[in-house]
Amino acid sequence: MGKPIHKVLLVAAVAVIAWPFFPNDEVQAWGFYGHKRINRMACFTLPPELFPFFKKHIDFVSDHAVDPDRRRYAVVGEAPRHYIDIDHYAHNGVDPFAVVPRKWADAVAKFSEDTLNAYGIVPWHIRLMHARLVEAFQRGDVDRILSNAADIGHYIADAHVPLHTTENYNGQLTGQHGIHAFWESRIPELSAESYDHFTGRARYIDDPLTAAWEAVIASHAAVDSVLDIEKAPEFGMAG
Ligand SMILES: [Zn+2]
Repeated sequence: MGKPIHKVLLVAAVAVIAWPFFPNDEVQAWGFYGHKRINRMACFTLPPELFPFFKKHIDFVSDHAVDPDRRRYAVVGEAPRHYIDIDHYAHNGVDPFAVVPRKWADAVAKFSEDTLNAYGIVPWHIRLMHARLVEAFQRGDVDRILSNAADIGHYIADAHVPLHTTENYNGQLTGQHGIHAFWESRIPELSAESYDHFTGRARYIDDPLTAAWEAVIASHAAVDSVLDIEKAPEFGMAG
């Protein structure tokens, strides 16, 4: 087999997120529709070494894209895996990404595990899921490969949702209550057919943790746009 296919997989999941994102209710990013579609599209970006396996199991990977949201209330510790309220850590123009250490151990040392869990751990959880996925591939455990692949696609998709990177995750601080479901569910359900889903091939990523942080940084940079555009009369929830 030549290539470390387990690593390529993560990349595919990451790469597919060039999909124009629009996120479901306050408990789930992307809604069921969005998550299923993102995982499905991710399979099509995979290189030839991986594609046949995932094509065979594409319905599983797509249908189970929403498992992490389904277990949010049943599994202790599940909820913070889906977001990071990065703006909790810095105010008054200070860059929160310069404040929060990227490595889990460093972040725990600085802020404590309780605090990190209180404000979300999505970038670190993507890294953990990647390690589990690699292990499943190494063992040749098809069931675990598929469940981990479906899960990691979910968390990576969540990391690409601007509203999953802010304390104002549902517009509650700016008089835009309900924007989370509007952005994650209603918009994609109404308009996904008109999106350009061509995202190109999956790209190999050496450093999944850095890639996860880069996704969060890019998402967070779009928070203002998401909120401002909703306020425009022609686009908003009232429209
Ligand atoms: Zn989620």
